[in-house]
Amino acid sequence: MKDHTDIPQIGHYIGGQITPGTGDRTQPVTNPATGRITGAVALADASTVDRAVAAAKAAFPAWADMPPIRRARLMNAFLALVRENKDALAHAITAEHGKVFTDAQGEVERGIDIIEFACGIPQLLKGDYTDQVSTGIDNWTLRQPLGVVAGITPFNFPVMVPMWMFPVAIAAGNTFILKPSPTDPSASLLYAELMRKAGFPDGVFNVVQGDKVAVDALLEHPDVKAVSFVGSTPVANHIYETGARHGKRMQALGGAKNHLMVMPDADMDKAVDALIGAGYGSAGERCMAISAVVMVGDAADRLIPALKARAETLKIRNGVELDAEMGPIVTAAARDRIAGYIDAGVAEGAELVVDGRSFTVPGHEDGFWLGATLFDHVTPDMKIYREEIFGPVLSCLRVDTFAEGLKLINDHEFGNGVSLFTRDGHLAREFGRQVQVGMVGINVPIPVPMAWHGFGGWKRSLFGDMHAYGEEGVRFYTKQKSIMQRWPESIVEGAEFTMPVSK
Ligand code: NAD
Repeated sequence: MKDHTDIPQIGHYIGGQITPGTGDRTQPVTNPATGRITGAVALADASTVDRAVAAAKAAFPAWADMPPIRRARLMNAFLALVRENKDALAHAITAEHGKVFTDAQGEVERGIDIIEFACGIPQLLKGDYTDQVSTGIDNWTLRQPLGVVAGITPFNFPVMVPMWMFPVAIAAGNTFILKPSPTDPSASLLYAELMRKAGFPDGVFNVVQGDKVAVDALLEHPDVKAVSFVGSTPVANHIYETGARHGKRMQALGGAKNHLMVMPDADMDKAVDALIGAGYGSAGERCMAISAVVMVGDAADRLIPALKARAETLKIRNGVELDAEMGPIVTAAARDRIAGYIDAGVAEGAELVVDGRSFTVPGHEDGFWLGATLFDHVTPDMKIYREEIFGPVLSCLRVDTFAEGLKLINDHEFGNGVSLFTRDGHLAREFGRQVQVGMVGINVPIPVPMAWHGFGGWKRSLFGDMHAYGEEGVRFYTKQKSIMQRWPESIVEGAEFTMPVSK
């Protein structure tokens, strides 16, 4: 592998120190708008993971013992610092991910929501208490932290998705190791620095940069008690099974194929706005991006011309330009993979209405560009419908009835997000009740739940029982304990040999 020592090195954050990862393998980091290499990220080996786990383990007893309200105060200090540094974080996202700056600001904002939620941890950890379960005996339940927990995150939200995890886990009393995506690793060191400035003790939050080697070391490490993963379905499946085999509590959120169904009675202008934003925003590289459009009855005849016109005139440019609507694709490999899907769609007989394959931005010819792409007459057997493309490609399917559209959605292997556009309240209600998908929008294209509701898909979009953040997040990062007490003054003399019952 090429030696990347002549460019900025992106290291780890372990035990309160940024460490360069000397001796680790490295991987280049690129700016997708220019195609230029801007840094080299360390790829941890098992010994670096060991150091991070040791630092987190050493920090755990005192951190878990700190009253929740004091942990919440530190989280409040972090919240203020993230707010102050919102634009710096957004710039770091745009520089390595490519999404447009205003969208990156929105990503940070949604991360902030979770930090705000985590600041309420004293209330969230409050237990249940029953006075006098038997004469002189009380019983209560409390939730205690697990220990060292880890988060493994994807490239597409380098700030928001880690913040789905570590603020909640840490506020609940755990210590945390983040393994971000090596594709856009710089933001993780910015918020690590903000955690240090906020006053979190060394070792409470750690960042280990890396790839599969670091992930496997975390999954096999006996001192890591739980792992949260967000990424593609094959990796989520592997991680869930491997972690569970090593006795860990696991949650693994996977890929998606999100449908938006448009009924003939819908407001078509609003449906077009929704499809353009949710299909091509962040170049379709969102786990809640819309990629399949289910057009019922004559909706297609009104939607397709409008979608075509909008897709052809989308402002696609370097994301730092404030009027950009869509930026580049994250890597050259991802661009080529998506172009391969477009080739496959054509080969399988879908009608290519707008072809983004030859799109480029003058002055940025080395960037990883693809134009907005639109297919019509896609059928359920086609690869572009069955698989997650994760790019700016909208596939339109035509059906005759609501029931046919609902069946199509329910038969798909993924069940992350879905949306229905209609003016019919009864239909909307039935859709919400019958659709086999975890997050549902009615006239809302990207129904990402707010911080206190929790995020998670169904079917092969999530492996595990608990959704991310919200109260399910608190439950995931804590275990319940029941305590029953009796004091000497109320103890009845003599041993009891029968099952204790309420007296
Ligand atoms: P990815 O699965 O390639 O990588 C995710 C993480 O796993 C990264 O940290 C990566 O370094 C690590 N990893 C990759 N291959 C691995 C392997 N073989 N063994 C162990 N670790 C491995 O995903 P990505 O390309 O970074 O992100 C895009 C994917 O994430 C899409 O499929 C998208 O739908 C999904 N995603 C899902 C959600 C959700 O909430 N369901 C949210 C965001 C992204």
